[in-house]
Amino acid sequence: MIDPDDSVLVGVSGGKDSMALLHFLLKLRKKMPRLIIVAVSVDEGISGYREKTILNLVNYARVHNVEYIVASFRDYIGATLDEVVKVSSEKGLPYLPCSYCGVFRRHVLNIVARKIGATVIATAHNADDVVQTYLMNLVNNSWDRIFSLSPVRTSSEEFVVKRVKPFYKTLEKESALYAILNGLVQLEYIQCPYAKYNVRFTIRKMLNELEDKYPGSKYGLLQSLLEIIRLRGSQITKKYTKCIVCGNPSSHSVCKACLFRALLGLLSPEEEKTVLEAAKTDPAVSRALSVKLVQKH
Ligand SMILES: [Zn+2]
Repeated sequence: MIDPDDSVLVGVSGGKDSMALLHFLLKLRKKMPRLIIVAVSVDEGISGYREKTILNLVNYARVHNVEYIVASFRDYIGATLDEVVKVSSEKGLPYLPCSYCGVFRRHVLNIVARKIGATVIATAHNADDVVQTYLMNLVNNSWDRIFSLSPVRTSSEEFVVKRVKPFYKTLEKESALYAILNGLVQLEYIQCPYAKYNVRFTIRKMLNELEDKYPGSKYGLLQSLLEIIRLRGSQITKKYTKCIVCGNPSSHSVCKACLFRALLGLLSPEEEKTVLEAAKTDPAVSRALSVKLVQKH
């Protein structure tokens, strides 16, 4: 996953998993002294939620002398998540808060990674996260997304930064225990206020019940996912193009984040012109822009 000369951007929310990952990578740096580690925290702008966890990172980074960057949705997207959710509802767009948040967080990390010349983006997704995503995509019959759930994602394209998930096989319970034993987080737990709108929330509960009754279920699902990826792996490698608006990796000429920004009215006039031009030739872009709005009663 990580070479001794890599420059690693660690995505850190300040919660238990990402603090555990940062702590672990700093230990690894003692064995690989050329390794560069930069902690990047994305501030989504969720009132009453993110401020506390960011403080965790800031305090830790100061004590351990780690370089860190806080990159906000406001600066990189043009609005906070709270504002995005409000505008989305006013416009009748059919997306849940977590859809925007996930897409925009990846978008911000990619831009910051290019800016600082990172060669790897490491995120703290653990086995629970991966298995939850696997099941969510099974429910939606989204096989492309399932195939892209591998622990390491690379591409030959220079604009695609390698992404790794070092805790892929680590259960949430274990990374939480590691974080607590190392004094990395406070024991209080604050849940994201938007979690209740999320399918993941239901699947997470279901998986925990399954694991309680039948220990080993999560590992079983994880192994089946790895097997599916292995069987498929040699046949396809995902092709990326460069988003014509932001330059991030994308499946279409305009990336999902820029399409969301277009729908929310967050693009500059120049960027908007570029997207409308692309819609004339790329059916995926025109489809995305002519999204079916939700009727309000
Ligand atoms: Zn883009």
